[in-house]
Amino acid sequence: MSDPAESVARAPLTIRMQERDNVAIVANHGGLPAGTVLPGGLVLRDKVPQGHKVALVDFARDDAVVRYGIPIGFAVEAIAAGSWVHERLLKMPDARGLDQLPIATVKPAPLPALEGYTFEGYRNANGSVGTRNILAITQTVQCVAGVTDFAVRRIKSELLPLYPHVDDVVALAHGYGCGVAIDAPDAVVPIRTLRNISLNPNFGGEVMVVSLGCEKLQPERLLPPGSFAIVDARQPEGEALDVVCLQDDAHVGFMSMVESILRQARVHLERLNARRRETVPASALVVGVQCGGSDAFSGVTANPAVGFCTDLLVRAGASVMFSETTEVRDGIDQLTARASTPAVAEAMIREMAWYDAYLQRGSADRSANTTPGNKKGGLSNIVEKAMGSIVKSGTAAITGVLAPGEKLQTRGLTYAATPASDFICGTLQLAAGMNLHVFTTGRGTPYGLAECPVIKVATRTDLARRWHDLMDVNAGKIADGTATIEETGWELFHLMLEVASGRKKTWAEHWKLHNALVLFNPAPVT
Ligand code: CA
Repeated sequence: MSDPAESVARAPLTIRMQERDNVAIVANHGGLPAGTVLPGGLVLRDKVPQGHKVALVDFARDDAVVRYGIPIGFAVEAIAAGSWVHERLLKMPDARGLDQLPIATVKPAPLPALEGYTFEGYRNANGSVGTRNILAITQTVQCVAGVTDFAVRRIKSELLPLYPHVDDVVALAHGYGCGVAIDAPDAVVPIRTLRNISLNPNFGGEVMVVSLGCEKLQPERLLPPGSFAIVDARQPEGEALDVVCLQDDAHVGFMSMVESILRQARVHLERLNARRRETVPASALVVGVQCGGSDAFSGVTANPAVGFCTDLLVRAGASVMFSETTEVRDGIDQLTARASTPAVAEAMIREMAWYDAYLQRGSADRSANTTPGNKKGGLSNIVEKAMGSIVKSGTAAITGVLAPGEKLQTRGLTYAATPASDFICGTLQLAAGMNLHVFTTGRGTPYGLAECPVIKVATRTDLARRWHDLMDVNAGKIADGTATIEETGWELFHLMLEVASGRKKTWAEHWKLHNALVLFNPAPVT
């Protein structure tokens, strides 16, 4: 069988996204040397690395360099056709203002319903569905993380074998809870994030808390009685929150604390172990999409395939969240235009304005987003990165907006405002109720979460080949010409149903690659 990556290497291949584009990216593994004659007859003046842009026309100084049909920058000097257009040759366009945006102007036609797709999931009392059956141990403060971790190791070795229908036990460790300005207005973000993660559908409504005792974030503040009503009929009316408090007088010695945690864990494991998977409609999926370690192929292969799959999920009645505020900020006009109502567009603008102010407070701006790896991969700046990032959201009308840490209450396509940081975005999407995560990467990241399966999609065949036991889907086939965006989107959709049903494990699950929960705390630390 011929290797697609090698066959690509033989014939020069460039990819242009839209007719209007005056640059294309080089698809060949290893790039193309100077002197290469492209299919249209253009001769390369420079060596152009894979994923990087080549000038298709002669640019005068200040001419717009157009990709995805929009100016991603302006030439700082004359650039001859066939030259490598790298980031030092581009001046970034000014940020789009948040006034006079198109509001709900696109009005995408409702996509045709996609019926008959199901998966095997764990039904919760509130109607949500888990894709895994996990005991999660909530913590009020970082101080208890070591003790909880010790107890979790014992639960895994001594108790889990007795409860074969429980997939795992996870300590929800974090850095918050004390030494923070807990009454500051923005403290609502980390607090509601922790609360809502505890109520994630993959934990079956079995909330148990380990607390220190003297911390600022007291258990009743983290999980006030009303918060249970959202998710959990298992918590009987009037029953107190299940809290193991380490400073309780009854604890004498470290082992008595550990025994308390194990004793309470048994109660929840017993109930979780009685649960069984049932056939549920695909509409029960709550999918969070994000990207990390992006390259110029992210917006050509993996993200468009995810976008196609997003449309399939929306058609099936499922919930899809796209996020990463700094990576969609430069396409705000596309997003407000796709909002289903003016109220949705206004909510998006509100979240973007909040984030602009947050960045400004820290003397940063959107240009701080792109990494050295992004640039090495061919992404010149945040405008180019944003255009490739937004395509993950597909074509459906945007019907919901969530502020950071809020819980998702609606189906369809939602903009869940989060930072672009992989760990913070994943943490906030978990809080929103995500039961399946899709993550695209071009440079490569081994990212995974203990709380929910993560399906990783490679943007290039070379990455998929080298990281064959870390990447679940190879969208590089799209650049190789061996699969279409639609075929890859369907492949992802079918894989999602398999993974959600527990019939397939993702590579991150196989290796138990678990990144930390990282809270977004925009409030002061004391
Ligand atoms: Ca990210």
